Amino acid sequence: MVETLKVEVERVAKSRLPQVDFSNLPFGKICTDHMFMADFRNGAWGNLRIVPFGYMPISPATPALHYGQSVFEGLKAHRGANNEALVFRPMDNWARLNRSAERLCMAQVSEEVYVEGLRALIELDRTWIPGAPGSSLYIRPFLFSADEIIGIRPSQDFTFMIIASPVGAYYAAPVKVKIETHYTRAVAGGTGFAKAGGNYGGAIYPTKLANDQGYQQLLWTDGREHANIEESGTMNVMFVIDDTLVTPALSDSILAGITRDSVLTVARSEGMRVEERKVSVKELIEGLQNGRVREAFGVGTAATIAPIEAIGHEGVDYHLPAVEKSSVAPHIYKTLDNLKRGIAPDPFGWIT
Ligand code: PMP
Repeated sequence: MVETLKVEVERVAKSRLPQVDFSNLPFGKICTDHMFMADFRNGAWGNLRIVPFGYMPISPATPALHYGQSVFEGLKAHRGANNEALVFRPMDNWARLNRSAERLCMAQVSEEVYVEGLRALIELDRTWIPGAPGSSLYIRPFLFSADEIIGIRPSQDFTFMIIASPVGAYYAAPVKVKIETHYTRAVAGGTGFAKAGGNYGGAIYPTKLANDQGYQQLLWTDGREHANIEESGTMNVMFVIDDTLVTPALSDSILAGITRDSVLTVARSEGMRVEERKVSVKELIEGLQNGRVREAFGVGTAATIAPIEAIGHEGVDYHLPAVEKSSVAPHIYKTLDNLKRGIAPDPFGWIT
C-alpha cells in the first residue's frame, strides 16, 4: 500500500505581506508567512506540516549545530503573466539535495515529501512572489540532523524544511573578483560538490579578506596547487575565450550548478561551441592579457548571470573588455529570464 503523506496546514492569523516594502528587499532578510517542516523518525518521513514562519525548538545537542550535519538548496519561483507561480527546475534541486545528504551521511528526502512540501508552501504564499523585473521568490529547502546527542556518528533523526524569501535583482553591477591563491574552498575527496553548510561557513573569512581589498568575490582555485580555476564565490564561472564558451569541468570539488547546466544547454542548443575542461590560472591571465578572454561571468540561482569586469591575481588587476561589449552573457541571461518568467516557450521542460 502506498501511503500518501498529507500536509497539515496551520495558517498565520494575519499576513505580514502588507508591511513588506517590495522596492527594498535585502537578499534573504524577509521570509514569507509560512514554512514547511517534516520529520524523519524511525526510518520514515512523517508529520508533514505548514506552520507560521518563526522560531522553533531544537536540541542544543544536535549534530546540526556541532558538526555541520546540515545541507541545503536554493531555487526560485517567478510570477507568470497570469499570476501563476513558475518554479525553475525544482526536481534538479531535489536530486542535488539528496546527493549532498548522501555525502554527509544523512537521510534521503523522498520525492513525495519534497514535492508536497514545495507545492503546499508555494500555494499558500504565492502572493509573496514579486513581479518586478529581476525579482523573484528565493526558495530554501534544507535538511539537518534532529538527533539529540553530542556524539559523532551517523544521525538517525532528521528535519526537512522549506522557507522562502522574496528577493529583488541581485549583483546587478559587474563585479571585481580575486583569484584565491592561499585559501581553499574545496579539495578532491572533500565535500565541495555538496551544498553542505560547512563549505559556506569556511568561505566567509577569505571572502571578507577579498572584500577588504576591494573585490566583491573570490575566484576559487583547486586546493592542491591553486593552479586551476574552480568557481566564483557561490557561483560557477564561465569565460568566453575566442568564440567558445568555456567552464571548468565538474569534479568533486565543484558544485554542479543548475544554472551552469541551463546556460550550457541553451548555448549548445543555439549552436555555440562549449567546452567543459580545466581552465588554468595561467591560461586565464594570458588570455586576459592578449584579449582572447572576451567575457567572464558567474552563473548561479541568485543572480542567474553576474558579469565580471576585472580579475585580480597576486596584486595585479586584469580588466575584461567593457561589459557593454559583451554579447554571450546578456543574450543567455535574456533567454533564461524570458523562459523563467513564462514569456518565452520552455523547450527544455524546466518550468513547473
Ligand atoms: N557553486 C556554489 C558553491 C554554489 O553555492 C552555488 C549556488 N547553489 C552555485 C555554484 C550555483 O548553483 P545553482 O546554479 O544551482 O544555483
